[in-house]
Amino acid sequence: MNDRSISGLLPPSPSAIEQLIAIVGHEHALTDPHDQAPFLREWRGRYVGRTPLVLRPGSTAEVSAIMEIANRKRFAIVTQGGNTGLVGGQIPAETGYEIILTTNRLHRIRDVNADAGHMTAEAGVTLAEVQARAAAVDRLFPLSLASEGTCTIGGNLATNAGGVAVLAYGSARQLVLGLEVVLADGRVWDGLRALKKDNTGYDLKQLFVGSEGTLGIITAAVLKLFPAPATKSTALVALPRLDAALQFFRAAERAAGHNLTAFEFISRESLNVVLHHVEGARAPFDTLSQPWYVLIEISSTAQIGEPDDLMQTVLGEALENGLITDAVLARSISQSEALWKLRETLSEAQRFEGGSIKHDISVPVGRIPEFVARAAPIVESICPGCRPIVFGHFGDGNIHYNISQPLEMDKAAYLKLWEPMNEAVHTLVTELGGSISAEHGIGRMKREALTHFRSQVELDLMRQLKQTFDPQGILNPGKLI
Ligand code: FAD
Repeated sequence: MNDRSISGLLPPSPSAIEQLIAIVGHEHALTDPHDQAPFLREWRGRYVGRTPLVLRPGSTAEVSAIMEIANRKRFAIVTQGGNTGLVGGQIPAETGYEIILTTNRLHRIRDVNADAGHMTAEAGVTLAEVQARAAAVDRLFPLSLASEGTCTIGGNLATNAGGVAVLAYGSARQLVLGLEVVLADGRVWDGLRALKKDNTGYDLKQLFVGSEGTLGIITAAVLKLFPAPATKSTALVALPRLDAALQFFRAAERAAGHNLTAFEFISRESLNVVLHHVEGARAPFDTLSQPWYVLIEISSTAQIGEPDDLMQTVLGEALENGLITDAVLARSISQSEALWKLRETLSEAQRFEGGSIKHDISVPVGRIPEFVARAAPIVESICPGCRPIVFGHFGDGNIHYNISQPLEMDKAAYLKLWEPMNEAVHTLVTELGGSISAEHGIGRMKREALTHFRSQVELDLMRQLKQTFDPQGILNPGKLI
């Protein structure tokens, strides 16, 4: 079914291209390879595509008109937001037939309703802008990723982005009340409802969340806003063993409840990479004597007291019980930012360590220590001397298990091990009841793997959904399913 719909696609004809250019205007249609270049390559250079045209529509009506032509003439459209995706979903194929539709001119905040607790933003608004507009009315939009200055709210919803605040607030899926979507045939679904309760049949918006541009183009969203925390307490702690992190996590959860807003774990090797490569990054400890570190954050609204007091209680008990060996509590916003910098620059810092074979996986929280212990000899047997750089969102069971190449090895030779390494790690993940993609999605990178790690029933249902929403397969072909 999938193959038939994709194989029926056609290259856009010169006349179709002229019609598309007329919809957005010449200044918003990029045909020059130099102008197109930033849209054709993802940030690590792992995926590079070609396109006859980059379209920059400025309204939902323009997106709709584009899709109506694409559907009628059967050519492919790849939607792109901030181009920060990590699985190649936003990059067109090398064939040069797929047209890129960037949402970067859909950048209006249509409405902010602080009292009712929601905001309506167009798809191309950056996550940082959404956060700032919420903060300006003393509200919080909690989604938080290291890419937030560039990634867009449409991309966040299309990938069901996670990040560092999922523990307390959930992923993008939990933060959306309504959507406006342009369908494959150009019709517009206006689902911009601001309802917390709506039990009128299938929850259509959730089908588009996490669909990676394969079921429709999100043009706007109603987002939930939360009370802004009045104070925050941040600490970095050292742990002697990873299983102590599990006990420490449970203790922190018991003490802080919903006020525990981050619990990020970082291996010593990962911290060393940041300290080595990131300008201005400093460890708050004299030496990194312990193998594991946790960045913990407790936030509160003004009504429930001082988070520093709560943090000190949590840390004091953990020290007494031998779960942690050392802790540094941030005493100012700048100290808190310095601690967060150690976490947020991890992906960037790793680029300087040569080739990195990445796994964005999740397992039940209680099985994280078992996963890390069992994965190490497996990857070592595939590539002796390779260096696991392990970090992630402990409370979500989400591990970024990235394996840097042995120092002396040739990068190209190392990257040839990508598939066997992925397969071995994903097999272990599946054995432990986990997922091969915790938050980055499937895109191009894991499309093949998905077919091995999801059941036939699940794959059939996904293909039937794709067929229903996009019978000609024109939306982001070759991605996800
Ligand atoms: P793009 O990269 O442009 O697109 C991603 C996918 O969404 C593509 O399949 C595209 O076709 C589709 N898409 C984009 N916009 C739309 C739309 N309007 N309608 C329909 N489909 C659309 N991700 C996390 O989940 N957690 C993290 O902690 C995290 N940290 C990151 C840190 C760094 C330094 C970087 C570079 C990336 C990180 N990411 C993380 C990945 C990435 O930022 C997210 O996947 C993000 O949600 C992508 O948004 P984008 O606007 O850049 O989308």
